Order: sequence, then C-alpha cells, then structure tokens
Amino acid sequence: MVKFADFHCDTLLNIHSRGLDFAAGNNFGHLDLPRLKEINCVFQCFAVFCDPKFGQEAALRRALRLLNVAKEKIFSLPDVVWVKSGADIDAALQQGKLAGLLSIEGADFLGDDLFLLDLVYSLGVRLITLTWNGRNTIADGIMVGDNAGGLTAFGVRAVRKMQELNIIVDVSHLAERGFWDVSKIAVKPFVASHSNAWEICPHPRNLKDDQIREIARHKGLIGMNLCPSFVAESRKDQTLTTLVKHISHIASVAGPEVICLGCDWDGITRLPEGMNDVRDILEIADILARAGFSAKEIGAICSDNLLNFLRENLGQDAI
Ligand SMILES: [Zn+2]
Repeated sequence: MVKFADFHCDTLLNIHSRGLDFAAGNNFGHLDLPRLKEINCVFQCFAVFCDPKFGQEAALRRALRLLNVAKEKIFSLPDVVWVKSGADIDAALQQGKLAGLLSIEGADFLGDDLFLLDLVYSLGVRLITLTWNGRNTIADGIMVGDNAGGLTAFGVRAVRKMQELNIIVDVSHLAERGFWDVSKIAVKPFVASHSNAWEICPHPRNLKDDQIREIARHKGLIGMNLCPSFVAESRKDQTLTTLVKHISHIASVAGPEVICLGCDWDGITRLPEGMNDVRDILEIADILARAGFSAKEIGAICSDNLLNFLRENLGQDAI
C-alpha cells in the first residue's frame, strides 16, 4: 500500500476554533488521526497560521497560543511522534506512529527580533513560511502586487539564521523578487511547501518553470496544493486528474524528485471536484500510474521524497 506524507495543513485552526478532537473520528474538517491512519499517512506537517487580521503586535501571542494547542492536542498523543530531528522520522515509522512536524505560516510574529527564531526552534518549530499573502518585516507576499519587493535587510538576516538553526525556509506565498533573493543567499535547500505549476494554471501562488528549476537546483521540494483555484481556472478542470498534470509538468521540468504533497488540508474551503476529505487522496496513486509514473516514482511523490528530505535536512535536535 502506498504511504502518504503531506507538507501543509491548517488543521490546528479546526482544533483551536471548532473543537475538532484530533485523536477521535470527526464528521467535519479534512483530517484527523483516525482518517490519516486509514489512508496510511505516516507524516503530516501542521501549520501555525497567524492570520494578518491579528496584526503584527498580536501575531506573536497568537503563534504561541497555537503552538501550545499543537503541543497539548496533537504532540502529546501516544500515537504521534513530534519530529524535531531527522532520526525522529525513522523512529515514528518503526513504531507505526504518525510523524508530525510543526511549522509557522507567515513570519509576522518575528517583528524585528531575531532571537524569536531561537525561541520558536526551542519550542519545536522546524519550518517557517516566510510570508503569507501580504507584507511583513521579512518580505512581501504575492498579493502585494506587481511592485512587491524582495527580502528586506532584516529578512536576509532572518533567512540566514533560520538555515543556521535548521529551520526549513518555505517560499510558498512569497512574491517573486523575494523568491530570487532567497535563492541567492540560501546555503541549504529551501521549499515551496504548498504551491503548483504556473504553466498549468497561471495563478500568482504557483511557480514559474525557472523557479521550479531553481528549487530543484537547491535540492528543495515543491508540495502539490489541492486549492481548486491553484489547480485550474475553470471549475470543471479542478480535479485530481488536473493536479497530476501539474506533477507531470514539474517532473518534466525538474525531475520527479522535487515533488511531494502539500495539500493545504483545512486551509481551503473547497476541495477539487469529487473530494470530501483526506481519504480521497488515495486515488492519486492510480491517476499517477495512468499518467506513466512507475511504482517507485509514485512512492517518491506520495511520501518518500518528503521523508528523505526531512531525514537529510532537519539535522540533529539541538535542544
Ligand atoms: Zn498557505
């Protein structure tokens, strides 16, 4: 049976705001532990999303609150291993437990205090998405528009510090100038945890071919996103079959080893046609096979690329 691993979900918001019990079966939301187990999902990254509506001042407080929710409601469960080092991946697999990674989406909580990177590392955060759609002290997100700027001087220092700490740098949501600034200074691989291919669907959240090649050149990863408007412009094409066209395109541009899943579960209000929750991702294995991918490549895209990336890039837990 194919194993699954996923680089982005916003399920913490359902746990915090809607009372989702992660350990139990629920009849709402895209995923919980029983549903992940049902599809043989062995790894899930959980994002702490600090909605810009909270403003920069409250972002840190909000981030800390959601980090605590993750600790109490997910990572304290006996069937979950909190992944903080490469070795934790194999520990989770050997014990048959879900490996969980903690990320922060939008570095607004940083303000201009670099020491907060040390702090969130010590609290277990191992990936930071530099921006959401707007501007923060690091850089501009994609919705700032055509004049969006790149990394600020503080942003350059923050990216360097993140890579020193082995916090994975995530460029999903980042405007193009910022992307190229990151690629110039990155000394370790960086990722786009939940973005698709612009050539297949020209949405600003998707990556152009030269960006895809650049991520591959840095030995990074691109997580495929189910958000219907990033999959296709017309509603009838917003399907898993079209998502596989993104995968085929990226594989032809940069090789299948750059591709993983970053479905954006519970971060999007609507899933592609015919999908209701995480269990419907199972079908992607058959669609990939029909598109000509080998069993080994399907395993790589559905989980092995991401698991190997984490084994190699999380380093040893320094705390
Ligand atoms: Zn996002």
